[in-house]
Amino acid sequence: MLKFQETIDFIRSIYNTQDLIPLHEPRFWGNEKKYLEECIDSTFVSSVGKFVDQIEVEIAKYTGAKKAVAVVNGTAALHIALKLVGVEAGTEVITQPLTFIATANAISYCGAKPIFLDVDLDTMGLSPIALKRFLEEETVWDSSSNKRLNKLTNKQITACVPMHTFGHACRIDEIVDICNEYNIPVVEDSAESIGTYYKEKHTGTFGKVGILSFNGNKTITSGGGGMIITDDEELAKQAKHLTTTAKIPHKWEYRHDHIGYNYRMPNINAALACAQLEQLDSFIEKKRALAKKYSDFFLTSTSSSTSTSISTSISPSTLSFFVEPKNSISNYWLNVVILKNREERDLFLKETNENGVMTRPIWTLMNKLEMFRDCYTDTLENAEWLEDRVVNISSSVI
Ligand SMILES: *Cc1c(COP(=O)(O)O)cnc(C)c1O
Repeated sequence: MLKFQETIDFIRSIYNTQDLIPLHEPRFWGNEKKYLEECIDSTFVSSVGKFVDQIEVEIAKYTGAKKAVAVVNGTAALHIALKLVGVEAGTEVITQPLTFIATANAISYCGAKPIFLDVDLDTMGLSPIALKRFLEEETVWDSSSNKRLNKLTNKQITACVPMHTFGHACRIDEIVDICNEYNIPVVEDSAESIGTYYKEKHTGTFGKVGILSFNGNKTITSGGGGMIITDDEELAKQAKHLTTTAKIPHKWEYRHDHIGYNYRMPNINAALACAQLEQLDSFIEKKRALAKKYSDFFLTSTSSSTSTSISTSISPSTLSFFVEPKNSISNYWLNVVILKNREERDLFLKETNENGVMTRPIWTLMNKLEMFRDCYTDTLENAEWLEDRVVNISSSVI
């Protein structure tokens, strides 16, 4: 008998299959084929088309942001968002080490260097306490240049990028308040949190700019795709310009006023996104119902782990389910269980994956990767604790 047989059986019973259960499969239950056919019939499959315009209007409406600009993927959205708030080569950007590589990559594309600060245990997102401590103790305001400088390196800090991990909102209002106090723009990496609200406001709309991802494994997908969202109409205009080769509009002439990017979302991907967005609310309802099933199961099956609120002192006996933090109505993009320690985590990963139930550990902390080994970190106590214990379990919509 496997140690985690009961959990494997439970997941199999939920998905009602003996086949491999992937971590997160897309569902094409709506108008996907219809809209794709429309694209092909119209010949507008590429850089311009009505679905690109439509998805931008609808994402703005859905999130409550004034403007949305569609791009090829979430990483490109982050790259442009960072450039728009003024992240330049030779500067530094604050983020969390517990994130998908795209966050750190986009910072690097700008020629900037990440600073990795700790996360909160109950949100898995950037800790306002860690942020405040760093800014207070390790930075200084240079009034001659109007720049916030890192005392140690003398480099300017040009942005802060918190991330809403697995669709759970971090303490974004506190983070934005602190960053405002220290004159640092916030770019919200809300790639994982479409449909997640913090204090009844959509994630991605707190910072100066937010981004979304529609990659194949995200809550809704356009195949590949991303979105820049902002309330700043001037920034949105610049985002559109920079992501469409910075061409000056003219009936026939080719003139470009910047080194721009070919980051626009093709119409065929936008068609898929439009069909998916129509189903987003029903997907989230189903994902929240699934999370409720898991949370009930792990509460009753792992008898001695009654606490779902996480604390390093009350470490779960075997397994506990991660529930949405206070103030977050989460999309539960990927469901999370917390194992007792790294050994138990490894055993859980082995038993589930060897038995056709796909599970994945949380990311290796960014500061442990070769490319980011010399970046500044604080103690990262919570990030390390989570890295040793967090596993994602089956989360496809049923
Ligand atoms: C998915 C994701 C992105 C963007 O990924 P793309 O695959 O480029 O769309 C960025 N940040 C985080 C945290 C993500 O999970």
